[in-house]
Amino acid sequence: MRSVDAHLAEILATVRPLAPLELELERALGTTLAEDVSSPVPLPPFDNSAMDGYAVRAEDVPGTLPVIDDVAAGSDELRAVGPGHAVRIMTGAPMPAGADSVVPVEWTDGGTVSVRINRDVPVGNAIRRAGEDVQAGEAVLKAGTVIGPAQLGIIAGVGRRRVWVRPQPRVVVISTGAELVEPGAPLGRGQIWESNSFTLTAAVRAAGAEGFRAGSVGDDPAVLLDQLDTHLVRADAIITSGGVSMGAYEPVKEALAPLGTVRFEKVAMQPGMPQGFGVLGDDRVPIFALPGNPVSSFVSFMLFVRPALDKMRGLPTDTAPVTAYVTAALRSPSGRRSYLRGVLASDGTVAPVHGQGSHQLAALASANALIVVPEDVTEVPGGSEVEVIRL
Ligand code: AMP
Ligand code: MG
Repeated sequence: MRSVDAHLAEILATVRPLAPLELELERALGTTLAEDVSSPVPLPPFDNSAMDGYAVRAEDVPGTLPVIDDVAAGSDELRAVGPGHAVRIMTGAPMPAGADSVVPVEWTDGGTVSVRINRDVPVGNAIRRAGEDVQAGEAVLKAGTVIGPAQLGIIAGVGRRRVWVRPQPRVVVISTGAELVEPGAPLGRGQIWESNSFTLTAAVRAAGAEGFRAGSVGDDPAVLLDQLDTHLVRADAIITSGGVSMGAYEPVKEALAPLGTVRFEKVAMQPGMPQGFGVLGDDRVPIFALPGNPVSSFVSFMLFVRPALDKMRGLPTDTAPVTAYVTAALRSPSGRRSYLRGVLASDGTVAPVHGQGSHQLAALASANALIVVPEDVTEVPGGSEVEVIRL
């Protein structure tokens, strides 16, 4: 049997970061920056008012001043503020020459011809200075940053319309199994509702990639090969579920093992021992052939596919280990690394859930973490510190 670490290492040595491309901002959410983004101008570009009020010379207040002009945000013809004058000014409007402070409207009588200002104002009050956020030429985002809403905002805020990014990997998810029925349709004898393609497509999206659910192809290797042919053109990676173990009717193994580019192995883990991985087609598209048991396929995704997607996105693949104190004793088979389902609490404990079978999807759905038990450990006393993986 091959170790979990060796299997992951092979996967990470095979997959490559996706090539950068230039995208319109509207399409860049969730992608990874492939360039440093800097601002061509200072931000703010000019001194402007932080409040609605009056631009004045601080030395002239308190007092009653004539209002000689009115400047809105976007105004470009400004009269200078002479001694003893005030200009009515709105938030974001450029500071007129001569003025050194803004008096908030709340400190005044709000007059439009003349204004009564009741109190002192410090020099520089309520002025946003040019370059206070960003200097001209300064990098605002580094290559390798994932573009979320605020990052998208600053890219637009420095005037960019398009940006170089590594795109989100497009991942096609195919289920196999003659017993599977689409949820929503009635169950016949011996059938179950197909769930893995929903779980895995959602897991792909939660991992910051684009998931396409191709549904189930039964147990016919020819149908599977046909589907792979259809989807390979638009996929950066493919995930299959089921059909990789030791029984008869293992369509993924039967279809892919003869190609010679996909290997099927026993990996020393529980759940999820049978695993396939390799590449398909001229573009060497990675394919993850995950086991069919619902818990096994999800755990396999978390261990092997998610780091691979991170690498394809141009992100680091190693995560800082998290530990917790287990609330009950655990058992684990010798020679295999176990991933038990648990509930991680804010007090730093993790409680194993009832139902640790690899088919027990409801138990998985009640968990928020995997408890890792190393290969050489068969019993973990309650209260021990264990490594956990957040789900
Ligand atoms: P297999 O790996 O194909 O031998 O499947 C192992 C177990 O997982 C069987 O009990 C299957 O019925 C079940 N299974 C396989 N694929 C799915 C799926 N897409 N949705 C739900 N259960 C599945
Ligand atoms: Mg099957």
